[in-house]
Formats: sequence, structure tokens, C-alpha cells
Amino acid sequence: MVHTIFWIIIGIVIFDYLLEKFLDYLNYTSIQDTIPDQLEGIYDEEKYRKSQQYEKTNLAFSMVTSTFSFIIILVLLFADGFAFLDNYVSNITHNEYLRALLFFGIFGLSMDIITIPFQIYGIFVIEEKFGFNKTTVHTFIIDKFKGLLIGALIGGVLLVFIMWAWSETGNWFWLIVMGGISAFSIFMTMFYSRLIVPLFNKQTPLEEGSLKLAIVNFSEKAGFKIDNIFIIDGSKRSTKANAYFSGLGHKKRIVLYDTLISELKESEIVAVLAHEVGHYKLKHVYLGLLLSLLQSALMIGLLFFAISKPELSFAIGATSPSFYMGLVAFGLLFSPISTIIGIMLNMVSRKHEYQADSFANSYGYGVELIDGLIVLSVSSLSNLTPHWLYVFFHYSHPTLLQRKNAIMKQQGGDSI
Ligand SMILES: [Zn+2]
Repeated sequence: MVHTIFWIIIGIVIFDYLLEKFLDYLNYTSIQDTIPDQLEGIYDEEKYRKSQQYEKTNLAFSMVTSTFSFIIILVLLFADGFAFLDNYVSNITHNEYLRALLFFGIFGLSMDIITIPFQIYGIFVIEEKFGFNKTTVHTFIIDKFKGLLIGALIGGVLLVFIMWAWSETGNWFWLIVMGGISAFSIFMTMFYSRLIVPLFNKQTPLEEGSLKLAIVNFSEKAGFKIDNIFIIDGSKRSTKANAYFSGLGHKKRIVLYDTLISELKESEIVAVLAHEVGHYKLKHVYLGLLLSLLQSALMIGLLFFAISKPELSFAIGATSPSFYMGLVAFGLLFSPISTIIGIMLNMVSRKHEYQADSFANSYGYGVELIDGLIVLSVSSLSNLTPHWLYVFFHYSHPTLLQRKNAIMKQQGGDSI
């Protein structure tokens, strides 16, 4: 049984890696040197060539990083790396909670440290070369520390909570953990913009002026009260632009990147905002939260059955079973299920994107929205012709051409 679980884990790790590489390969095959007809009028020759180079560079880089992680995980499994760390922390303390915290702390930190060269290369070489990088070394280092601290704090609290529930609450485990995670998710959804974002970025309320006036005009038409519009200093790290909706109820806010404001025309910004309001009006925020809770419910349910089996710890080399070794094995075994859930969540998300686009279009902002998306796609050298299977697995948004066609269709025009 222990051997079987070990080989199932190895099989899953290899399958995951091959699947990712296959999807990357499919995208690689869609790279073309000359501009395809469907992108005429979107990309000019030079920008198009640059976008294909960017795609090639990123695929090659992903090949290196994912192969590196793949080898590390295989070495850890075949050379009993997890068992080594288990022994090490067991010699430090007998307290189960401290051992688990040390185990994941050391593991997480080491994995982060050995991948730092890749992170540096990605930002300071690739993004720099293509003109996107704005991150300074200082920002990079500070971000690293803050990220690790927040990760350790949130991860540590959740780990201790789940372990406590496991050892103290018996058959109530599922219900209590689910209750805790739901409360935490709702809290984070509501306060993310107030608690986490300010640690990394500055958010300033949108100033009075013609943009604000145009937005107020739209919101009156749409019957939506927008009193929390913030500009975030995304330009601190990258030239790439974005906009998003966050929070629930009266804590809701729309966040626009400063890079978006500087690149788009006023009507295009209002169109992007109309799309974001669409997400809110159509209850996508609540649906998204509900789906992520369903995902947690499934995972905790399976964890409840799996974690009591000592074979899980033994499969990755433990000499005596422990919660954290079981959790590592469970995490590896759960990966195919999480891939399937990821695909389903992306399908829902792409549907929501079409609906939010359609909402913006129904207020007369369809053309401006597409124009705005084209500007953003071109300036971020997006790959506009990804392979459909890659889109199916990984894209949370439909491609630009798909969105453009959907809006054209609604307007009764010919799709391109
Ligand atoms: Zn959207």
C-alpha cells in the first residue's frame, strides 16, 4: 500500500509536468513570424514581432523553471528529502504544532531561496529587456520580506487551526474547519484592499475632474452607486495595466491602475469600469466566493478521510506518521483534482467575463471597451493567438479576439 501510494505520487508529479510542457509546446507551435490576418489592425508588424519574441522567451524560461522544480520534487521524493526534514524538526522539539510550523517554515523558505535567481531573472532580465520592468532592487527585497512574513503569518495560523481541529474536534472536524475557513475567506474578501494591498501599494481616491464626472454619469445611468474608486500605483513595479473589483457590500471598491489611466482615453476607462461594475451587478463577486468555498469544502472533506491514514506519511518516507507529513502527501495526491477544479473555475470565470463585457456593451460601451482592451493587449505584448487547449486549461479570461467577436455579434455586426 505504502509503495503504491509512493508510485501514484510519482506518476502524478510526472503527469503534471508533461501536461504543462505539452500545453506550452502547443502554444509554441502557434508562434508565427508574419502577422496573421485576424490581427491586422490590432498589431503593427514591429510590435507583433516583438510580442512573438516575448512569448518565445517566456516559454523558454518556463521550460527552465518548471524543469528545475520538477527535478527538485523528484529528488525530494526519491532521496527521502521530506523524511530528512521530518527527522530534523523532530530532534528540535516534540511539540507537534511547533514541529509542523518548523517543517513548513523551513521547507517554504528553502524553496523560495533556491528559486530567487529565477525570480530575479524573470523581473530584471526578461521584463526589463521588453521594457515592462519598473521594480527597483529595493522594492524587490522589501516585497520579498513582506511576502514571506504575511505568508508565514497566515499560513501558520491556518495550519495551527486545522491541526487543532484535527486533534480536538473529532467528527466535527469538517464543519469546524469549514466554518473557520469560510469566516477567514469572507473577512479577507472584505478587507483585502484595506489590510494587504496597503502593505505593497499606495491607493488614492480618484480626484474630482472630467474622468470622475464621466464615471458618475455612467453610474447614474447604470443605477450603481460608485463612491469608492481608487487609483493604485501599479507603475511602481510594472508598466502593465489592470483594473479590478474588490470587497463586498459597502466595503466594495473599484481599483484602477495608474498605468491604465495613463494609457487609455477617458471613454475607454469608463468602459473598463462599466465592465467591472458588471461583475458586481451580476453577482460574480459572491459567486466567486461561493465557488472557492465549495472547493475548500471538497478539499477538507477528502483531507478528513485521508489524513488519518498513516500510509500517507510512510509513502514519503516518514518513520512515524505525523499530520504535516500526511498533509504533504495529501497535497501531492490532490493535485489532479485541483487541476480539474482549476479548469472548471476558469470556465466559469470566462463566462463571467463575457457577461461583464455584455453588461458594458448594453450601456453603449462595447466599442470603447474593445478599443481599450486592444491598447492594453498591445502594450503588454499579449499573445493574441494562444492554442485553444492552453486557453481551456489556463485562461481566466477569453482571448481578445473572442471578446471582440462576442461584442460585435451583440451589436449585430459581422464577427471578424
Ligand atoms: Zn472582468
